[in-house]
Amino acid sequence: PGVIFLGLLQMVVVPLIICSIITGIADSGSMEFVKKIGGRAILYFIATTCIAITIGMLITNWVQPGANVDPALIENALGNGSIDATNSVQTLEDLTIPKRIANMIPTNFTKAQFEKNMLQIVIGSILAGLAMLGLSKPSVAPVLNLCKAGQILTMRIIGWAMKIAPYAVFGLMAQIVIQLGFEAITSVGLYVACVLGGLLAMGLVYMVIVSVFGGLSPLAFLRGIREAQIIAFSTSSSAATMPISIAVAEEKLKMRPEIVRFTIPLGATINMDGTALYQAVAALFLTQVFQVDLSFNEMVLLLVTTVGASIGTPALPGVGIVVLATILLGIGVPAEGIALILGVDRLLDMCRTTINVTGDLTATAVMQKWIKK
Ligand code: ASP
Repeated sequence: PGVIFLGLLQMVVVPLIICSIITGIADSGSMEFVKKIGGRAILYFIATTCIAITIGMLITNWVQPGANVDPALIENALGNGSIDATNSVQTLEDLTIPKRIANMIPTNFTKAQFEKNMLQIVIGSILAGLAMLGLSKPSVAPVLNLCKAGQILTMRIIGWAMKIAPYAVFGLMAQIVIQLGFEAITSVGLYVACVLGGLLAMGLVYMVIVSVFGGLSPLAFLRGIREAQIIAFSTSSSAATMPISIAVAEEKLKMRPEIVRFTIPLGATINMDGTALYQAVAALFLTQVFQVDLSFNEMVLLLVTTVGASIGTPALPGVGIVVLATILLGIGVPAEGIALILGVDRLLDMCRTTINVTGDLTATAVMQKWIKK
């Protein structure tokens, strides 16, 4: 059931993003609206990402999980060499700013869809939506109608997938528990506790944001988004969860479609507070293990790099740790250090993805309140 469920979601995710964003923008009526929501959403995403990273850094500096790690374990991890150097060099290359900008534009839209490059798909769809805003209604009506129909159709398939969701969650969870084992967790237990504690704190920050800026009761909000959180936890993928996030935002929380269809796909692609927090904790943990001292300026640099890295992390299972390799190179920690935390990564991935998805839904609640009809 887990495989069928994931297959159904993956089948519809690309057309859903394209149709949602295009109808979201083209139906919003004005460029003004798009500018307003786009500008505010991006500012909001950056602000919450900085909060998440700061929480991660504070906790890790306070607990010092890397101070007492068994030296034999470090030796063992380094000897394993499970992260190969070519891989890290590649991610470093990808992170140079001109290359990143070039990578964001889908020069071949079919290739972007084939490779499921979500950022390119989102950007291409935003451009198409903006182009439609500036054209006369009758001339773009066929495309707009096609997108509207595409959205209804994909949401119907998601409805079917939701029917088997409980069995899928059971299957996916059972598989992970069998694979993980408990020794992996206990060896770096303090580190795991720091990440989980940080994610929990971020969850509490969201609840404050939801009630103060979103004007919703945190309990009602949590009840509404529960399904999306469970799916995020069991699939470890913000992209796979995106259709469910749209469904719960529109159907359970009754949020406005023009806001939901813009904020959720964009957020799922670039807003990853859980991943940012995790990357900050892991980077600092490894500096403690390898006794690399960071000055205040280097800490600030780490914050900025992590904001960029979390934006660039694809919304897929287990990629946060690959991008972490690049951050580590920047602060002088051997990328092989990742081997030390690889064993527990799946568990942390499940938890950080849940926070990533909660963050996107929180952002939608805030935008819904901020942007009047
Ligand atoms: N799995 C995460 C997500 O999809 C990304 C990561 O941190 O690995 O949101």
